[in-house]
Amino acid sequence: MLPETVDVVVIGAGNAAMCAALAAREHGASVLVLERAPEAERGGNTRFTAGAIRCVYDGVDDLKALMPDLTNEEIANTDFGTYTAEKFHDDMGRVTEYRANPDLVELLVDRSRPTLRWMRAKGVRFAPIWGRQAFKVDGRFKFWGGLTVEAWGGGPGLVEALFAAAAREGIAVAYEARAVSLVAGDDGVTGVRVRQGGRTREVRAKSVVIAAGGFEANSEMRTRYLGPGWDLAKVRGSRFNTGDGIRMALDVGAMPYGNWSGCHAVGWDRNAPEFGDLAVGDGFQKHSYPFSIMLNANGERFVDEGADFRNYTYAKYGRVILNQPNQFAWQIFDRKTRHLLRDEYRIRQVTKVQADTLEDLVRKLDDVDPVRALRTILAYNAAVRTDIPFDPNVKDGRCTEGLLVPKSNWANTIDEPPFEAYAVTCGITFTFGGLKVDGEGRVIDTEGQPIPGLFAAGELVGGLFYFNYPGGTGLMSGAVFGKIAGTGAGRRAAGTG
Ligand SMILES: Cc1cc2nc3c(=O)[nH]c(=O)nc-3n(C[C@H](O)[C@H](O)[C@H](O)COP(=O)(O)OP(=O)(O)OC[C@H]3O[C@@H](n4cnc5c(N)ncnc54)[C@H](O)[C@@H]3O)c2cc1C
Repeated sequence: MLPETVDVVVIGAGNAAMCAALAAREHGASVLVLERAPEAERGGNTRFTAGAIRCVYDGVDDLKALMPDLTNEEIANTDFGTYTAEKFHDDMGRVTEYRANPDLVELLVDRSRPTLRWMRAKGVRFAPIWGRQAFKVDGRFKFWGGLTVEAWGGGPGLVEALFAAAAREGIAVAYEARAVSLVAGDDGVTGVRVRQGGRTREVRAKSVVIAAGGFEANSEMRTRYLGPGWDLAKVRGSRFNTGDGIRMALDVGAMPYGNWSGCHAVGWDRNAPEFGDLAVGDGFQKHSYPFSIMLNANGERFVDEGADFRNYTYAKYGRVILNQPNQFAWQIFDRKTRHLLRDEYRIRQVTKVQADTLEDLVRKLDDVDPVRALRTILAYNAAVRTDIPFDPNVKDGRCTEGLLVPKSNWANTIDEPPFEAYAVTCGITFTFGGLKVDGEGRVIDTEGQPIPGLFAAGELVGGLFYFNYPGGTGLMSGAVFGKIAGTGAGRRAAGTG
């Protein structure tokens, strides 16, 4: 049964929403979380993640504060390096081509470390991402690409920990409760209309936090805002993020903000289902492409697979794959790099072919011109600077020379059987455009003023990501802005904000 009145309503039940709910509760507010999904599918895109989370740390002491279980032996065997605030700022600037809103970026970077500590105090546990973000070279792990921490148990573990904290703190969650519109007037937002069990009811509230994700699961909105062809992308995560939160805020005068034609999209198994599958999680992604070459239907390479660390290119390469003929590509590896492939290459639901000669391999690549594919591989092999040593932990500069489409790092010849190839298409993760918020998480209207009583957090906050995205920032921004929005909402409800 939905209550008639509550202090704070939070729309959504992913990472941003649950952080907002927990923060609002700290100010004594009664909190109701509305989750559109049934309980078995709760947790939005957050649940589909590996839980990788990008945060500032100045050395191993910061990591120990977050992960007290780290042993001395693990510390001795690992080069964790640092990820300073300066580096995080640089990464956000560089990958977004300096379009990211600097005020939002400053909040994201500066609050990343304290927000993770706050989450830990709420019962969320963290661990180093040994498996995916560090290669062992000469007996020692070395972390690369600024991404070192993951939530214990990945996305599912994060969601469980957040819901457990919410239950402990007396936060109510309503399932299959879809927010359909906001109740708003001259005094701002005073409630939410909710559709549950075939009936629509109003819940009155002093503050409302919208954290209902982007519009990635809505093919009509994708095509309208991202452009032609985006209806053909597969959705990597939740089927429930259809843009409701953004739409209901725009309906009450919120300002559209950020990169509305941009999104996070990756190489994703060509035969994956239309929406994410919780049993597979992020396993359909194929993120080891920096060690491959990718061929399209014409048998041609089309992108520099080794332009940068995976964390800084994967989110924009989905679009590049979508733009290829028939929206697919094959990633090709040989024996030399097979041991570097991430765990997701070994799942049962994988579109893979294998052969002992290149001639056989190219014939097995569905929908690819085999003659041109072979020619491309041979030309690539001849162009690799084998005199430069290969090192997966650094941008090794082992490049090609003289090719129209260069490969800048990690170029290895493809000449030792067995040869393997994996078919990918474009999988959309989340959309970049959304609402404008201020430093207190308040939603800004088209006059540039905060809408009283309305806060927002998570994927639907615009202005952070443009064109591209540094891996692990989605969860961090959801947590940072979730906590900010929840604090603002809780204070307002308590009459102190
Ligand atoms: C496969 C995959 C892997 C990823 N891996 C990572 C990673 O390792 N690290 C990282 O940082 N990011 C990762 N991301 C991105 C990350 O998932 C998102 O950035 C983050 O989870 C967004 O959190 P959120 O709370 O804003 O949205 P979500 O977690 O998607 O939550 C949105 C919530 O809103 C609910 N909802 C929608 N409409 C309504 C409505 N009308 N009424 C009520 N509820 C509604 C949904 O059901 C859901 O509960 C990944 C994403 C995917 C899909």
